[in-house]
Amino acid sequence: MNRILLCTILLVLPACFLNGQNPNIGKPKLVVGIVVDQMRSDQLHRYEKKYSAGGFMRLVREGYNFKNANYNYVPTVTAAGHASIYTGTTPSEHGIIGNSWYDRYTAKLLGNVDDATETIVGSAEKNALGASPKNLMTTTISDQLRLATNFKAKVISISLKDRGAILPGGHTANAAYWHDWVTSPGYFVSSTYYMDELPKWVSAFNKLEKSNAYLNNTWNTLYPIETYTESEADNNNYEPSLGGKPSPTFPYDLKSMREKYKTVGAEYQLVWVTPAGNSLLTEFALEAVKNEELGKDDITDLLSISYTVPDIMGHTFGPQSVEIEDVYLRLDKDIERLLNSLDNTVGINNYVLFLTSDHAAMPVASFLKDHKLPAGVARIQQYQDAVTNFLNSKYGNNSWIENFDGEQLYLNRPLIATLKLDLNTLQQEVADFLIDIPGIHNVLTAHDLQTQNYDTGIRQLVQNGYYAKRSGDVLLSFDSGFTQNPNSNIDVSQVKGTTHGSGYAYDTHVPLLWFGSGIPTGESVRKVAPIDIAPSLAMILNITFPSGTSGEPLVEIFKDHGQ
Ligand SMILES: [Zn+2]
Repeated sequence: MNRILLCTILLVLPACFLNGQNPNIGKPKLVVGIVVDQMRSDQLHRYEKKYSAGGFMRLVREGYNFKNANYNYVPTVTAAGHASIYTGTTPSEHGIIGNSWYDRYTAKLLGNVDDATETIVGSAEKNALGASPKNLMTTTISDQLRLATNFKAKVISISLKDRGAILPGGHTANAAYWHDWVTSPGYFVSSTYYMDELPKWVSAFNKLEKSNAYLNNTWNTLYPIETYTESEADNNNYEPSLGGKPSPTFPYDLKSMREKYKTVGAEYQLVWVTPAGNSLLTEFALEAVKNEELGKDDITDLLSISYTVPDIMGHTFGPQSVEIEDVYLRLDKDIERLLNSLDNTVGINNYVLFLTSDHAAMPVASFLKDHKLPAGVARIQQYQDAVTNFLNSKYGNNSWIENFDGEQLYLNRPLIATLKLDLNTLQQEVADFLIDIPGIHNVLTAHDLQTQNYDTGIRQLVQNGYYAKRSGDVLLSFDSGFTQNPNSNIDVSQVKGTTHGSGYAYDTHVPLLWFGSGIPTGESVRKVAPIDIAPSLAMILNITFPSGTSGEPLVEIFKDHGQ
């Protein structure tokens, strides 16, 4: 029985307010976590006149808007972001230092959720490499909810990307589902880590062949294209042309584009490059709520939804594009649909929802350059060759570098040990050499990070992203507006599309909205971080913090709680 009903029946309504608590605040039946992959904070407001009243703007109007939420570590990438939101801590504790990293112990590149001991469930490919959260070193708020309810709470986590589904679910999720674009025809799959076969409702959803149907459509702008005045002209130099199109412009005839994608074995990845991917995920989320009976009983459940499409589209077209504007206008409709459905199925005061992003993104470097803003290309291969030449000339020709991904340089430690050289000295010599190269802004060594405490600026962000067993020997950060490129000859004016990963505000500043059961209306400009989300949820749910929590509860959303 809910509290209002109880108060009414007992006719002790005034007593219900005596402790200063809002009678609508009870333990929510459902927590909904929404991550919009690559959403910049300004994308919440840039198109706000065109958003509907019931989508993003409903969250702003009726919920609580933290306008100054920033990631507090580097690299600002998907896996690290999702892990940090749900563990309430930074990569220095949860260990997810990137989407992949070089593993010294096996001398291999390791994907953040790769797990060779598991296989994919529901894939057309037999024994496809499986996935699990085993590289996540601490617990998530989802795990804590499961623990607190003697594993009666249901945790379902979904995304198009595997990492966007697996990491939020933590170690004990009932299920994580993601979209398999590798094998036809674009089904939702899971891993043997969670189950031996897909539940009936997932198989039934797959049989509807929605990915296939979406790819037979044409994508045009939601409103007349001349009204997209917040964006660059549709035809510009900052975007590549997809799927054999002569120009990067609307309309996108997906039916003919899929044929081109098919020739490179990526037909169903086209779902990730159109707003249809967001609608597909919304439909799957609503099916999960219905079939898993999320939020139905008094034991709080958790649904995590990570919208992948804005990231893939953002990389391709950049935040100045008509395409990305249209993605957000359409995602707004999906959010509205999701909220309306949750109101009806779970009940308006029975769920609490947060919406944030795993990282933001830089404007396209060539666009910055054209507008006289700092921009450049970080020429990774050139840097690697320069370090190799430097060490060769100093210590003799050898393979000094085991791996270099642009931001993390792994020295050949076995070689250094065999030659009886001092690792710390070599790290420092490489750092001193790199810092003189134009475009490189900051260089720290593993030795620095293990022996010093940095509490401001980029050094602190690097330290929060440093995990000794997985991180490199030398960690680099680039100048503002720089984008990494393996092609050493490319000029900044030739760069198309964009990326993220740095500690600059364009990559760290993300939306953070709270909405629903017991959440007051308001906004704050206090600087907060996405690692504050999990401890806030722990306080709402009266459960233990995730094991590595370093974030703090967001006091603003408790102000009506009489606490
Ligand atoms: Zn990305």
